[in-house]
Amino acid sequence: MNTSLTAKRTHGFTESVIREMTRVAKEHNAINLSQGFPDFPAPQILKDAACEAIRDDINQYAITWGSDSIREALVKKYEDWYGIILDGNQEITVTCGATEAMVSSMLAAINPGDEVIVIQPFYENYGPDVILSGAIPIFLTLEAPEFRIDHDHLASLITDRTRAIVINTPNNPTGRVFDRSELESIADICRSHNLLAITDEIYEHIYYEGEHIPIATIDGMRDRTITISGFSKTFSITGWRIGTIIAPPSLTNAIRKVHDFLTVGAPAPLQEACAIGLRELGSDYYESMIKDYRIRREALYNGLIETGFKCSKPQGAYYILADFSNLSEKDDDTFSRILARDAGVAVVPGSSFYHNPELGNSMVRFAFCKKVETLEEAVEKLRSFV
Ligand code: GLN
Repeated sequence: MNTSLTAKRTHGFTESVIREMTRVAKEHNAINLSQGFPDFPAPQILKDAACEAIRDDINQYAITWGSDSIREALVKKYEDWYGIILDGNQEITVTCGATEAMVSSMLAAINPGDEVIVIQPFYENYGPDVILSGAIPIFLTLEAPEFRIDHDHLASLITDRTRAIVINTPNNPTGRVFDRSELESIADICRSHNLLAITDEIYEHIYYEGEHIPIATIDGMRDRTITISGFSKTFSITGWRIGTIIAPPSLTNAIRKVHDFLTVGAPAPLQEACAIGLRELGSDYYESMIKDYRIRREALYNGLIETGFKCSKPQGAYYILADFSNLSEKDDDTFSRILARDAGVAVVPGSSFYHNPELGNSMVRFAFCKKVETLEEAVEKLRSFV
């Protein structure tokens, strides 16, 4: 390919494998268990609120860093859920999805030449986000099948140039919900080396075991944490692109400028709808969402075990990272394409979650944010295939 017209910073990027597999699924008319988006409807109250906001002519730019209503609703949410008291005028930024939240945060907080610790397996955007910031990703590998964070291993990667650690809990793709001792290890290292924690908590309301602990609630972390989340997963609206960033005022100030120059703002009517969702949906909504995900998790997990995959039940989020070495000696990319073409089930090759592809080449990731019927049909197809 002729790269003379393109910027060097893009040369190391490949196409997003997750998004590519959605295209492969379409090509083969396969059930899409690759990209993590629900195939069931969003809550009616959100859909109605979005239509109403448009009818009410909330059709122009909202305040760059988020409408008053959504920031007020977020202040209440963080206090109610986690006891975090926020200044909505100085500590919140609303973005175009958690994806923009992550890259805006890094561009605002990381200098070229800095090192950023990325925990692998990782959600594939983090590496490119670090590179777009001119920084160098340093990978901490969690060993399968436990995928636990080890304090000393993490400490051994810190240098004079380390600036931040990227965390994602509940975790995509491992399904880990990092426990207090693991988060304390990260916090200890952040405090003693003056590092930032950049934490992606987009699955904060989707977990089946343990508890979700925002690292910002750990002693001494609030002032050095950028907390990213959003509504894509909580309200099943991945196409709306409403993300959130919580950060101390000085960081928020820098983040808001980057966000403004990148996108100006997130969709105004959809911010109104999310504010209403936050205000109106109570504990029964969150409990029933988890209950439904638990049923979907069982359906997929049991099907995978029965058809010969090796995997463990995720503690949170909605993915299963499964080892297929009992079923095929092919690499993950080839196996995924065969699975889409011959079994009619699309998954994500495991290597796309690793900097060192060989670490993921006997694994594939299944998403279970799908109707139980969809999952049962997928399992039936896998049964016929193996
Ligand atoms: N987070 C989802 C996944 O891992 C979707 C990501 C995306 O395509 N934006 O599949």
